[in-house]
Amino acid sequence: MSDMQKGLLKAVSEVLPESEHRWCARHILANWSKDWRGLERRNNFWRCARASCVAELNFHLDSLNMLRNGICESLLRYNKETWCRAYFNCDRKYDIIDNNMCETFNAWILAARHKTIITMLEEIRVKMMERIGKLREFADTWICDISPIAMKVYQDNMAQSMRCTIKWNGEYGYEVEDTSLRVVLKHCVNMQAQTCTCRSWMLKGISCAHAIAVMHFKNLDLINYISHWYHKSTYLKAYSTFIQPVSNMQMWPTSTNPPIEPPPIKKMLVDQRRREEEKKLNILLLESFQEGV
Ligand SMILES: [Zn+2]
Repeated sequence: MSDMQKGLLKAVSEVLPESEHRWCARHILANWSKDWRGLERRNNFWRCARASCVAELNFHLDSLNMLRNGICESLLRYNKETWCRAYFNCDRKYDIIDNNMCETFNAWILAARHKTIITMLEEIRVKMMERIGKLREFADTWICDISPIAMKVYQDNMAQSMRCTIKWNGEYGYEVEDTSLRVVLKHCVNMQAQTCTCRSWMLKGISCAHAIAVMHFKNLDLINYISHWYHKSTYLKAYSTFIQPVSNMQMWPTSTNPPIEPPPIKKMLVDQRRREEEKKLNILLLESFQEGV
């Protein structure tokens, strides 16, 4: 995930040619909306970026197209495979479309980033040391073994599942009609493969509205179908390594070695060259002035 910097695009494609490089939708919106202002257009943009399958994306693109001629063409100049969820790879259970997490972390260490390298690293180390402890304590406030954010997504999907109707093929397959958009979309759910054609379940690892509707229909335990990435045990594993406390410089033993002196100052080559060029320019100016006189 990056903010469309040209250097990064080239570097990632060279160093990690097999990786999926997403572009931050928020940065694309900032660029695109310079020519296309208005709240309705912004909302439509987010609906396009968040659409989990191509049919849903096309529906939102059609709605966007009604807001002005040429609006869709200008948006699709940004490669949609990099910022539309509908084209994201399903194998990593990560469907984030912006890099807010990096931006937030950068803002959190902003004061430290303006300091000298040792002080900066020391301040970040202390911040992280405290943060790991606090995040571990946060897990004690969870009301079940699934993270609160995953539970919020799950409950929203559950509310949407009320608008779905189901047809069962007698085995693992279900046709689920979703009426939450102005157009009815019929999705296919396979409970054995744990897939749905809306792709949301595979993208996120949290059952989509269609899968939840099927689970209700089959009287299955819904919580069992949330990916292990959202379990408390996985969360705690991420914060299982503690940063150990370090005493400050005043506590260090006094060294008997000679103090390290800074290296002697050398005149940089570039300075010498610049001075020579300036000297030549001055001579030329003087000559042209004298000729003019
Ligand atoms: Zn679905």
